[in-house]
Amino acid sequence: HKSNDSDKTVSLSGSTSASTDSDRTPIRLDSTEDGDSGNWPRQNSLSLKEWDIPYDDLHLLESIGKGRFGTVHRALWHGDVAVKLLKEDYLDDEHMLEAFKLEVANFKKTRHENLVLFMGACMNPPHLAIVTSLCKGNTLYTYIHARRDKFTINRTTLVAQQISQGMGYLHARGIHHKDLRTKNIFLENGKVIITDFGLFSSTKLLYCEMGLGVPNGWLCYLAPELMRALMPVKPTEEILPFSKASDVYSFGTVWYELLCGEFPFKSQPPESVIWQVGRGMKQTLANLQTSRDVKDILMLCWSFQADDRPDFAKLLSLLERLPKKRLARSPSHPVQLSRSAES
Ligand code: ADP
Ligand code: MG
Repeated sequence: HKSNDSDKTVSLSGSTSASTDSDRTPIRLDSTEDGDSGNWPRQNSLSLKEWDIPYDDLHLLESIGKGRFGTVHRALWHGDVAVKLLKEDYLDDEHMLEAFKLEVANFKKTRHENLVLFMGACMNPPHLAIVTSLCKGNTLYTYIHARRDKFTINRTTLVAQQISQGMGYLHARGIHHKDLRTKNIFLENGKVIITDFGLFSSTKLLYCEMGLGVPNGWLCYLAPELMRALMPVKPTEEILPFSKASDVYSFGTVWYELLCGEFPFKSQPPESVIWQVGRGMKQTLANLQTSRDVKDILMLCWSFQADDRPDFAKLLSLLERLPKKRLARSPSHPVQLSRSAES
């Protein structure tokens, strides 16, 4: 049957009343402000137009990839930047535009060395885009699953600590990542850069006429409470109860990938993963040759009850307490970089 969504009038101004010319009005970045820069001194009056980048100022170069929300391009704007362009289809969807506005409002609150640098946004439909610094390194996904690099336990721990630092900061700012996965974590000369936080997590994007479409490698990051909230048909409201604890669950999966070089529930059909995780089952760690402490961290993050999962501050202290592995370098004990040799 026909969805109601297409009948909605798009309102970009942040007001609830429909306006006939609203589809060409720049989106205001903060609906709590009146946007009138004549009202000063107001500490946050800078926060509005300051981050607006005229679309024409961007010199778009090649596309780097496609995600759920649109295309990412490399571009020139005072140097190399990454531009995430919102798909045009979404311009008529009030829900998506609200999500975009919210994301920009959130994004501009973030300043941390392990988070991608927000540089500004194009807020004039039909050109809605987010401009960030361009990550030069590879994603953890590329290192782990495409290049099949082996991470030593020391390197794994350093990476996990930086992720925890960035995530702890986001949570302190009241932002849930909602999409923490190895594809959204870059590694640049040993430094972790997290991207796509709070970004259009809208579950509606996952639905097509056939029902729920599950992107590859997405389910294994979903906490049990999110799994249980998945619906076979497109919901009218946002249904997934994302939380700090659901981000911690996702972090657990990243930790597992770093340790194992694989996704949990590898090559199992989505139905089976949803059923198992929703009932509290976990990927077995029987074949994972590593210390008890390392496995305990994983199991804590994957706790069935959200309240039992640690927060990122706690995780950071658990990670810092892990013993550092010293590599033996004597000829009789050649250094082995395989994961099993280090455990
Ligand atoms: P996904 O996260 O599922 O890969 P995205 O739409 O987020 O999808 O990204 C599409 C592509 O653009 C990916 O290959 C991603 O690595 C790349 N990308 C996204 N943001 C940046 C960035 N800031 N710097 C460099 N590459 C990026
Ligand atoms: Mg991404």
